[in-house]
Amino acid sequence: MKEIEKVKRSEEYSPPFVWTGHPFTDAGLVALLLLSGKGKPEELTEKDVENAVEFASKLYARKEWSSGYIHAMMLPNSGILMANPSMSKKRTPEEIKKNLLALLSEEEDPNAPVCEICGRKHSRQKPVYRSDFPLVGTGGVPNYFPSGRDGANICSHCLFLAQMMPLAAYRLSRVLIIHAYPYELMLEFHREAINDVKKSELASVARDFKRPENFLFKKLGEIGRKLEAGKLSGASITLYYFVNNNQGQEIDVIYIPNPILRFVALASQHDSAGWARIVSMGWNRGCAKRLAKKQEEIEKSCENDVYHRLLDGESVLHYFIDPQSRRANSSWRLLSFYCSEVLGLDENALEFVKRVADRIVETVEKLPDNKLSRRIRELERAEKLYQFEGFFIRIEKDRQELGIPGALMGFDDFARILTSYGEDLNVSWKTVKNLLLFRIYEKLHDRLMEASPEGAEEEEVEEEFEEGEE
Ligand SMILES: [Zn+2]
Repeated sequence: MKEIEKVKRSEEYSPPFVWTGHPFTDAGLVALLLLSGKGKPEELTEKDVENAVEFASKLYARKEWSSGYIHAMMLPNSGILMANPSMSKKRTPEEIKKNLLALLSEEEDPNAPVCEICGRKHSRQKPVYRSDFPLVGTGGVPNYFPSGRDGANICSHCLFLAQMMPLAAYRLSRVLIIHAYPYELMLEFHREAINDVKKSELASVARDFKRPENFLFKKLGEIGRKLEAGKLSGASITLYYFVNNNQGQEIDVIYIPNPILRFVALASQHDSAGWARIVSMGWNRGCAKRLAKKQEEIEKSCENDVYHRLLDGESVLHYFIDPQSRRANSSWRLLSFYCSEVLGLDENALEFVKRVADRIVETVEKLPDNKLSRRIRELERAEKLYQFEGFFIRIEKDRQELGIPGALMGFDDFARILTSYGEDLNVSWKTVKNLLLFRIYEKLHDRLMEASPEGAEEEEVEEEFEEGEE
Protein backbone atom coordinates (compact mmCIF):
# COMPACT_ATOMS: atom_id res chain seq x y z
CA MET A 1 0.00 0.00 0.00
CA LYS A 2 2.73 2.35 1.07
CA GLU A 3 4.64 1.65 -2.13
CA ILE A 4 1.65 2.60 -4.21
CA GLU A 5 1.29 5.83 -2.30
CA LYS A 6 4.93 6.62 -2.90
CA VAL A 7 4.57 6.07 -6.61
CA LYS A 8 1.47 8.21 -6.67
CA ARG A 9 3.16 11.05 -4.85
CA SER A 10 6.16 10.99 -7.17
CA GLU A 11 3.84 11.10 -10.14
CA GLU A 12 2.13 14.14 -8.72
CA TYR A 13 5.35 16.07 -8.43
CA SER A 14 6.04 17.66 -11.73
CA PRO A 15 8.64 20.41 -11.96
CA PRO A 16 7.41 23.29 -14.10
CA PHE A 17 10.26 22.90 -16.58
CA VAL A 18 12.04 19.85 -17.94
CA TRP A 19 14.67 19.17 -20.57
CA THR A 20 12.90 18.25 -23.77
CA GLY A 21 15.71 17.67 -26.26
CA HIS A 22 14.40 20.60 -28.29
CA PRO A 23 17.26 23.08 -28.84
CA PHE A 24 15.16 26.23 -28.40
CA THR A 25 13.31 25.37 -25.20
CA ASP A 26 16.40 23.72 -23.72
CA ALA A 27 18.36 26.91 -24.42
CA GLY A 28 15.69 28.88 -22.54
CA LEU A 29 16.02 26.48 -19.64
CA VAL A 30 19.81 26.93 -19.74
CA ALA A 31 19.27 30.69 -19.39
CA LEU A 32 16.98 30.18 -16.37
CA LEU A 33 19.44 27.81 -14.68
CA LEU A 34 22.56 29.86 -15.30
CA LEU A 35 20.89 33.07 -14.16
CA SER A 36 19.76 31.31 -10.97
CA GLY A 37 23.04 29.52 -10.35
CA LYS A 38 21.25 26.17 -10.43
CA GLY A 39 22.22 22.96 -12.20
CA LYS A 40 18.93 21.09 -12.57
CA PRO A 41 15.43 22.16 -13.58
CA GLU A 42 13.85 20.68 -10.43
CA GLU A 43 16.00 22.99 -8.31
CA LEU A 44 14.40 26.12 -9.78
CA THR A 45 12.13 28.03 -7.45
CA GLU A 46 9.31 30.38 -8.34
CA LYS A 47 11.49 33.25 -7.17
CA ASP A 48 14.33 32.16 -9.50
CA VAL A 49 11.94 32.25 -12.42
CA GLU A 50 10.58 35.64 -11.48
CA ASN A 51 14.07 37.10 -11.11
CA ALA A 52 15.08 35.76 -14.49
CA VAL A 53 11.94 37.19 -16.07
CA GLU A 54 12.66 40.54 -14.53
CA PHE A 55 16.23 40.47 -15.81
CA ALA A 56 15.09 39.50 -19.31
CA SER A 57 12.28 42.05 -19.48
CA LYS A 58 14.58 44.97 -18.73
CA LEU A 59 16.87 43.96 -21.58
CA TYR A 60 14.11 43.03 -24.02
CA ALA A 61 12.52 46.47 -23.65
CA ARG A 62 15.65 48.07 -25.04
CA LYS A 63 16.00 48.83 -28.74
CA GLU A 64 19.26 46.88 -29.13
CA TRP A 65 17.44 43.76 -28.07
CA SER A 66 13.95 44.43 -29.33
CA SER A 67 14.29 45.60 -32.92
CA GLY A 68 18.02 44.94 -33.25
CA TYR A 69 18.06 41.31 -32.21
CA ILE A 70 14.75 39.68 -31.32
CA HIS A 71 12.79 41.15 -34.23
CA ALA A 72 15.75 41.14 -36.63
CA MET A 73 17.01 37.60 -36.05
CA MET A 74 14.82 35.42 -33.90
CA LEU A 75 11.16 36.30 -33.37
CA PRO A 76 9.99 38.78 -36.00
CA ASN A 77 7.01 40.90 -34.91
CA SER A 78 6.92 39.13 -31.57
CA GLY A 79 3.82 40.08 -29.61
CA ILE A 80 4.84 38.49 -26.32
CA LEU A 81 8.21 40.25 -26.21
CA MET A 82 6.64 43.31 -27.87
CA ALA A 83 9.27 43.39 -30.60
CA ASN A 84 6.58 44.17 -33.15
CA PRO A 85 7.50 47.68 -34.38
CA SER A 86 3.88 48.84 -33.88
CA MET A 87 4.26 48.19 -30.14
CA SER A 88 7.34 50.37 -29.67
CA LYS A 89 5.43 53.12 -27.86
CA LYS A 90 3.82 50.82 -25.31
CA ARG A 91 6.92 48.66 -24.80
CA THR A 92 8.16 48.72 -21.20
CA PRO A 93 9.92 46.18 -18.98
CA GLU A 94 6.73 45.91 -16.89
CA GLU A 95 4.54 45.08 -19.88
CA ILE A 96 6.96 42.43 -21.14
CA LYS A 97 7.25 40.94 -17.67
CA LYS A 98 3.46 40.78 -17.45
CA ASN A 99 3.27 38.94 -20.80
CA LEU A 100 5.93 36.44 -19.78
CA LEU A 101 4.44 35.63 -16.39
CA ALA A 102 0.99 35.38 -17.93
CA LEU A 103 2.24 32.45 -20.00
CA LEU A 104 3.07 30.54 -16.85
CA SER A 105 -0.37 30.96 -15.35
CA GLU A 106 -2.24 30.20 -18.56
CA GLU A 107 -4.90 27.57 -17.98
CA GLU A 108 -4.68 24.29 -19.85
CA ASP A 109 -7.46 23.27 -22.17
CA PRO A 110 -7.85 19.47 -21.90
CA ASN A 111 -9.36 19.42 -25.39
CA ALA A 112 -6.31 20.94 -27.02
CA PRO A 113 -3.74 18.58 -28.58
CA VAL A 114 -0.67 17.62 -26.58
CA CYS A 115 2.40 19.87 -26.84
CA GLU A 116 4.63 18.80 -29.73
CA ILE A 117 7.75 19.73 -27.79
CA CYS A 118 7.46 18.43 -24.25
CA GLY A 119 4.50 16.04 -24.62
CA ARG A 120 3.57 16.81 -21.01
CA LYS A 121 0.99 19.52 -21.29
CA HIS A 122 -1.83 20.42 -23.61
CA SER A 123 -0.85 22.95 -26.19
CA ARG A 124 -2.35 26.42 -26.40
CA GLN A 125 -5.68 26.52 -28.15
CA LYS A 126 -4.27 28.22 -31.22
CA PRO A 127 -1.11 27.03 -32.98
CA VAL A 128 2.01 29.02 -32.20
CA TYR A 129 3.57 30.87 -35.13
CA ARG A 130 7.09 31.93 -35.97
CA SER A 131 6.78 35.34 -34.36
CA ASP A 132 6.71 33.55 -30.99
CA PHE A 133 8.68 30.39 -31.72
CA PRO A 134 11.46 30.39 -34.35
CA LEU A 135 11.08 28.54 -37.64
CA VAL A 136 7.57 27.11 -37.23
CA GLY A 137 6.14 29.09 -40.14
CA THR A 138 3.22 31.40 -40.68
CA GLY A 139 0.90 31.60 -43.67
CA GLY A 140 2.90 31.06 -46.84
CA VAL A 141 6.28 31.14 -45.09
CA PRO A 142 7.97 27.75 -45.08
CA ASN A 143 8.41 26.07 -41.74
CA TYR A 144 10.86 23.52 -40.47
CA PHE A 145 8.58 21.21 -38.58
CA PRO A 146 8.08 17.72 -39.97
CA SER A 147 4.32 18.08 -40.28
CA GLY A 148 4.87 21.07 -42.58
CA ARG A 149 1.76 22.66 -41.13
CA ASP A 150 1.14 26.26 -40.47
CA GLY A 151 2.37 26.88 -36.92
CA ALA A 152 2.82 24.24 -34.22
CA ASN A 153 0.97 22.98 -31.15
CA ILE A 154 3.10 24.17 -28.27
CA CYS A 155 2.23 24.52 -24.59
CA SER A 156 2.55 27.79 -22.71
CA HIS A 157 5.54 26.55 -20.68
CA CYS A 158 7.58 25.56 -23.73
CA LEU A 159 6.59 28.85 -25.30
CA PHE A 160 7.82 30.64 -22.18
CA LEU A 161 11.19 28.89 -22.37
CA ALA A 162 11.63 29.87 -26.02
CA GLN A 163 11.25 33.50 -24.92
CA MET A 164 14.24 33.10 -22.59
CA MET A 165 16.41 31.67 -25.37
CA PRO A 166 17.77 35.05 -26.61
CA LEU A 167 19.68 35.41 -23.34
CA ALA A 168 21.61 32.17 -23.79
CA ALA A 169 22.11 32.33 -27.55
CA TYR A 170 25.26 33.47 -29.32
CA ARG A 171 24.86 36.15 -31.92
CA LEU A 172 27.10 35.63 -34.94
CA SER A 173 25.79 36.54 -38.38
CA ARG A 174 22.97 34.18 -37.42
CA VAL A 175 21.89 32.88 -34.02
CA LEU A 176 23.86 29.97 -32.58
CA ILE A 177 22.52 27.44 -30.11
CA ILE A 178 24.88 24.67 -28.96
CA HIS A 179 22.63 21.84 -27.91
CA ALA A 180 24.51 19.27 -25.89
CA TYR A 181 23.86 16.09 -24.02
CA PRO A 182 24.41 15.51 -21.11
CA TYR A 183 22.80 18.81 -20.24
CA GLU A 184 25.58 19.84 -17.83
CA LEU A 185 27.64 20.15 -20.96
CA MET A 186 25.08 22.46 -22.52
CA LEU A 187 25.30 24.68 -19.44
CA GLU A 188 29.07 24.81 -19.88
CA PHE A 189 28.78 25.78 -23.52
CA HIS A 190 26.36 28.62 -22.81
CA ARG A 191 27.84 29.97 -19.59
CA GLU A 192 29.92 32.42 -21.57
CA ALA A 193 26.81 33.83 -23.29
CA ILE A 194 25.07 34.56 -20.00
CA ASN A 195 28.23 36.06 -18.51
CA ASP A 196 28.57 38.34 -21.52
CA VAL A 197 24.94 39.44 -21.19
CA LYS A 198 25.41 40.20 -17.51
CA LYS A 199 28.54 42.21 -18.24
CA SER A 200 27.57 44.15 -21.34
CA GLU A 201 23.77 43.95 -21.25
CA LEU A 202 24.01 42.94 -24.90
CA ALA A 203 23.70 39.54 -26.52
CA SER A 204 26.98 37.62 -26.63
CA VAL A 205 28.80 37.95 -29.93
CA ALA A 206 30.88 34.83 -29.24
CA ARG A 207 34.16 36.76 -29.06
CA ASP A 208 33.55 38.00 -32.61
CA PHE A 209 33.88 34.57 -34.15
CA LYS A 210 32.44 34.62 -37.65
CA ARG A 211 32.18 30.85 -38.08
CA PRO A 212 30.13 28.78 -35.65
CA GLU A 213 32.26 25.65 -36.06
CA ASN A 214 35.44 27.58 -35.26
CA PHE A 215 33.85 28.90 -32.09
CA LEU A 216 32.66 25.42 -31.17
CA PHE A 217 36.09 23.82 -31.60
CA LYS A 218 37.68 26.63 -29.61
CA LYS A 219 35.22 26.16 -26.75
CA LEU A 220 35.41 22.41 -26.95
CA GLY A 221 39.17 22.66 -26.46
CA GLU A 222 38.73 24.94 -23.44
CA ILE A 223 35.99 22.86 -21.87
CA GLY A 224 37.75 19.60 -22.76
CA ARG A 225 40.81 20.71 -20.84
CA LYS A 226 38.76 20.88 -17.64
CA LEU A 227 36.72 17.71 -18.11
CA GLU A 228 37.41 14.50 -16.26
CA ALA A 229 38.22 11.60 -18.53
CA GLY A 230 35.14 9.55 -19.23
CA LYS A 231 32.80 12.53 -18.84
CA LEU A 232 32.28 12.60 -22.58
CA SER A 233 31.41 8.96 -23.13
CA GLY A 234 27.98 9.05 -24.71
CA ALA A 235 28.02 12.85 -25.02
CA SER A 236 26.76 14.54 -28.14
CA ILE A 237 26.66 18.07 -29.48
CA THR A 238 24.58 19.60 -32.25
CA LEU A 239 24.87 23.17 -33.41
CA TYR A 240 21.77 24.98 -34.58
CA TYR A 241 22.74 27.99 -36.58
CA PHE A 242 19.65 29.82 -37.71
CA VAL A 243 17.95 33.05 -38.54
CA ASN A 244 14.23 33.72 -38.41
CA ASN A 245 13.14 37.13 -39.65
CA ASN A 246 10.97 38.90 -42.19
CA GLN A 247 13.59 38.38 -44.91
CA GLY A 248 13.58 34.64 -44.47
CA GLN A 249 14.22 31.59 -42.35
CA GLU A 250 17.32 29.48 -42.54
CA ILE A 251 18.96 26.87 -40.41
CA ASP A 252 22.14 24.81 -40.56
CA VAL A 253 22.33 21.82 -38.27
CA ILE A 254 25.90 20.74 -37.54
CA TYR A 255 26.25 17.46 -35.70
CA ILE A 256 29.50 16.63 -33.92
CA PRO A 257 29.96 12.87 -33.56
CA ASN A 258 31.00 11.53 -30.17
CA PRO A 259 34.46 10.23 -31.23
CA ILE A 260 35.31 13.74 -32.48
CA LEU A 261 34.29 15.25 -29.14
CA ARG A 262 36.45 12.82 -27.23
CA PHE A 263 39.35 13.26 -29.63
CA VAL A 264 39.36 17.06 -29.32
CA ALA A 265 38.98 16.89 -25.53
CA LEU A 266 41.85 14.41 -25.25
CA ALA A 267 43.97 16.50 -27.59
CA SER A 268 43.50 19.66 -25.56
CA GLN A 269 44.13 17.88 -22.28
CA HIS A 270 47.18 15.87 -23.19
CA ASP A 271 48.72 17.36 -26.31
CA SER A 272 47.45 20.88 -26.81
CA ALA A 273 50.59 21.93 -28.70
CA GLY A 274 50.16 18.98 -31.07
CA TRP A 275 46.49 19.74 -31.63
CA ALA A 276 47.34 23.40 -32.30
CA ARG A 277 49.88 22.31 -34.94
CA ILE A 278 47.31 20.02 -36.59
CA VAL A 279 44.70 22.80 -36.68
CA SER A 280 47.20 25.36 -37.92
CA MET A 281 47.84 23.26 -41.03
CA GLY A 282 44.15 23.35 -41.97
CA TRP A 283 43.53 27.08 -42.39
CA ASN A 284 42.41 28.24 -45.79
CA ARG A 285 45.68 29.57 -47.17
CA GLY A 286 44.33 32.64 -48.96
CA CYS A 287 42.39 33.73 -45.90
CA ALA A 288 45.28 33.09 -43.53
CA LYS A 289 47.62 35.05 -45.79
CA ARG A 290 45.22 37.96 -45.96
CA LEU A 291 44.95 38.06 -42.18
CA ALA A 292 48.61 37.23 -41.49
CA LYS A 293 49.04 40.50 -39.63
CA LYS A 294 46.10 39.78 -37.36
CA GLN A 295 46.79 36.25 -36.17
CA GLU A 296 43.80 36.05 -33.85
CA GLU A 297 41.43 36.95 -36.69
CA ILE A 298 42.46 33.81 -38.55
CA GLU A 299 40.87 31.46 -36.06
CA LYS A 300 37.69 33.54 -35.99
CA SER A 301 37.16 34.12 -39.69
CA CYS A 302 38.97 31.59 -41.89
CA GLU A 303 37.69 28.20 -42.92
CA ASN A 304 39.61 25.27 -41.52
CA ASP A 305 39.88 22.04 -43.45
CA VAL A 306 40.62 20.03 -40.30
CA TYR A 307 37.32 21.17 -38.75
CA HIS A 308 35.36 20.53 -41.93
CA ARG A 309 36.83 17.09 -42.44
CA LEU A 310 36.18 16.07 -38.86
CA LEU A 311 32.56 17.19 -39.15
CA ASP A 312 32.13 15.53 -42.55
CA GLY A 313 33.55 12.21 -41.37
CA GLU A 314 36.65 12.47 -43.58
CA SER A 315 40.18 11.57 -42.54
CA VAL A 316 42.54 14.25 -41.20
CA LEU A 317 45.43 11.81 -40.82
CA HIS A 318 47.65 13.67 -43.30
CA TYR A 319 47.52 16.72 -41.01
CA PHE A 320 49.28 14.76 -38.29
CA ILE A 321 52.50 15.06 -40.25
CA ASP A 322 54.23 18.07 -41.73
CA PRO A 323 56.30 16.83 -44.70
CA GLN A 324 57.66 20.34 -45.28
CA SER A 325 59.53 20.35 -42.02
CA ARG A 326 59.56 16.54 -41.76
CA ARG A 327 57.92 16.62 -38.38
CA ALA A 328 55.25 14.65 -36.56
CA ASN A 329 52.70 17.19 -35.37
CA SER A 330 51.47 15.34 -32.31
CA SER A 331 52.32 12.60 -29.87
CA TRP A 332 51.94 8.96 -30.91
CA ARG A 333 49.26 8.64 -28.23
CA LEU A 334 47.03 11.25 -29.85
CA LEU A 335 47.60 9.73 -33.28
CA SER A 336 46.76 6.32 -31.93
CA PHE A 337 43.55 7.58 -30.29
CA TYR A 338 42.54 9.28 -33.52
CA CYS A 339 43.22 6.19 -35.61
CA SER A 340 41.38 3.76 -33.37
CA GLU A 341 38.51 5.91 -32.07
CA VAL A 342 37.79 8.16 -35.03
CA LEU A 343 39.02 6.27 -38.09
CA GLY A 344 38.06 2.92 -36.61
CA LEU A 345 41.44 1.40 -37.43
CA ASP A 346 42.03 -1.89 -35.66
CA GLU A 347 44.56 -1.41 -32.84
CA ASN A 348 46.50 -4.51 -33.88
CA ALA A 349 46.85 -3.07 -37.36
CA LEU A 350 48.20 0.14 -35.89
CA GLU A 351 50.74 -1.73 -33.79
CA PHE A 352 51.74 -3.74 -36.84
CA VAL A 353 52.42 -0.58 -38.86
CA LYS A 354 54.36 0.87 -35.94
CA ARG A 355 56.56 -2.23 -35.81
CA VAL A 356 57.25 -2.02 -39.52
CA ALA A 357 58.07 1.68 -39.16
CA ASP A 358 60.49 0.94 -36.35
CA ARG A 359 62.29 -1.62 -38.50
CA ILE A 360 62.52 0.92 -41.31
CA VAL A 361 64.01 3.38 -38.83
CA GLU A 362 66.42 0.73 -37.61
CA THR A 363 67.59 0.34 -41.19
CA VAL A 364 67.74 3.89 -42.51
CA GLU A 365 69.35 5.40 -39.44
CA LYS A 366 72.49 3.47 -40.38
CA LEU A 367 72.65 5.26 -43.75
CA PRO A 368 74.66 8.45 -44.23
CA ASP A 369 72.59 11.65 -43.88
CA ASN A 370 72.18 12.27 -47.59
CA LYS A 371 71.11 8.79 -48.39
CA LEU A 372 68.76 8.71 -45.42
CA SER A 373 67.05 11.89 -46.53
CA ARG A 374 66.73 10.61 -50.06
CA ARG A 375 65.31 7.29 -48.97
CA ILE A 376 62.60 8.96 -46.92
CA ARG A 377 61.83 11.30 -49.78
CA GLU A 378 60.99 8.26 -51.87
CA LEU A 379 58.34 7.37 -49.36
CA GLU A 380 57.07 10.95 -49.12
CA ARG A 381 56.72 11.14 -52.90
CA ALA A 382 55.05 7.78 -53.41
CA GLU A 383 51.74 8.62 -55.09
CA LYS A 384 51.18 5.26 -56.75
CA LEU A 385 51.10 1.83 -55.20
CA TYR A 386 54.11 0.61 -57.27
CA GLN A 387 56.20 3.51 -55.93
CA PHE A 388 55.18 2.53 -52.41
CA GLU A 389 56.21 -1.06 -53.12
CA GLY A 390 59.50 0.15 -54.59
CA PHE A 391 60.30 1.89 -51.32
CA PHE A 392 60.08 -1.36 -49.36
CA ILE A 393 62.24 -3.19 -51.87
CA ARG A 394 64.95 -0.55 -51.54
CA ILE A 395 64.83 -0.71 -47.76
CA GLU A 396 65.21 -4.48 -48.02
CA LYS A 397 68.26 -3.96 -50.22
CA ASP A 398 69.66 -1.42 -47.75
CA ARG A 399 69.32 -3.98 -44.98
CA GLN A 400 71.29 -6.54 -46.97
CA GLU A 401 74.00 -4.04 -47.87
CA LEU A 402 74.28 -2.89 -44.26
CA GLY A 403 74.39 -6.47 -43.07
CA ILE A 404 71.37 -6.08 -40.76
CA PRO A 405 70.20 -9.55 -39.81
CA GLY A 406 66.64 -10.56 -40.61
CA ALA A 407 64.37 -9.30 -43.38
CA LEU A 408 62.33 -6.11 -43.03
CA MET A 409 59.14 -8.06 -43.52
CA GLY A 410 58.12 -11.58 -44.31
CA PHE A 411 56.02 -12.28 -47.38
CA ASP A 412 52.78 -12.30 -45.38
CA ASP A 413 53.53 -8.96 -43.77
CA PHE A 414 54.44 -7.50 -47.13
CA ALA A 415 51.21 -8.68 -48.67
CA ARG A 416 49.26 -7.42 -45.67
CA ILE A 417 50.66 -3.91 -45.71
CA LEU A 418 50.17 -3.49 -49.42
CA THR A 419 46.91 -5.16 -50.12
CA SER A 420 44.75 -5.86 -47.13
CA TYR A 421 43.91 -2.20 -46.55
CA GLY A 422 42.41 -1.88 -49.99
CA GLU A 423 41.19 1.43 -51.29
CA ASP A 424 38.81 2.20 -48.45
CA LEU A 425 38.84 5.95 -47.85
CA ASN A 426 40.15 5.73 -44.32
CA VAL A 427 42.30 2.64 -44.34
CA SER A 428 44.09 2.48 -47.69
CA TRP A 429 47.83 2.06 -48.26
CA LYS A 430 48.00 5.86 -48.13
CA THR A 431 46.90 5.65 -44.52
CA VAL A 432 49.75 3.23 -43.92
CA LYS A 433 52.14 5.58 -45.71
CA ASN A 434 51.12 8.50 -43.48
CA LEU A 435 51.46 6.38 -40.35
CA LEU A 436 54.93 5.22 -41.41
CA LEU A 437 56.02 8.79 -42.09
CA PHE A 438 54.64 9.88 -38.72
CA ARG A 439 56.77 7.34 -36.91
CA ILE A 440 59.85 8.03 -39.02
CA TYR A 441 59.60 11.79 -38.47
CA GLU A 442 59.03 11.21 -34.78
CA LYS A 443 62.25 9.20 -34.53
CA LEU A 444 64.47 10.85 -37.10
CA HIS A 445 63.32 14.47 -37.38
CA ASP A 446 66.63 15.99 -36.27
CA ARG A 447 68.75 13.92 -38.59
CA LEU A 448 66.42 14.44 -41.50
CA MET A 449 66.63 18.18 -41.02
CA GLU A 450 70.43 18.08 -40.92
CA ALA A 451 70.67 16.76 -44.45
CA SER A 452 70.24 19.76 -46.73
CA PRO A 453 67.37 19.32 -49.18
CA GLU A 454 69.33 20.75 -52.16
CA GLY A 455 72.19 18.29 -51.63
CA ALA A 456 69.74 15.42 -51.47
CA GLU A 457 68.16 16.54 -54.73
CA GLU A 458 71.49 16.20 -56.60
CA GLU A 459 72.29 12.88 -55.00
CA GLU A 460 68.99 11.54 -56.16
CA VAL A 461 69.78 12.15 -59.83
CA GLU A 462 73.13 10.42 -59.40
CA GLU A 463 71.64 7.39 -57.82
CA GLU A 464 69.04 6.94 -60.51
CA PHE A 465 71.84 6.97 -63.04
CA GLU A 466 73.79 4.42 -60.99
CA GLU A 467 70.82 2.13 -60.80
CA GLY A 468 70.26 2.38 -64.52
CA GLU A 469 73.78 1.05 -65.06
CA GLU A 470 73.33 -1.97 -62.88
ZN1 LIG B 1 5.42 21.86 -23.96
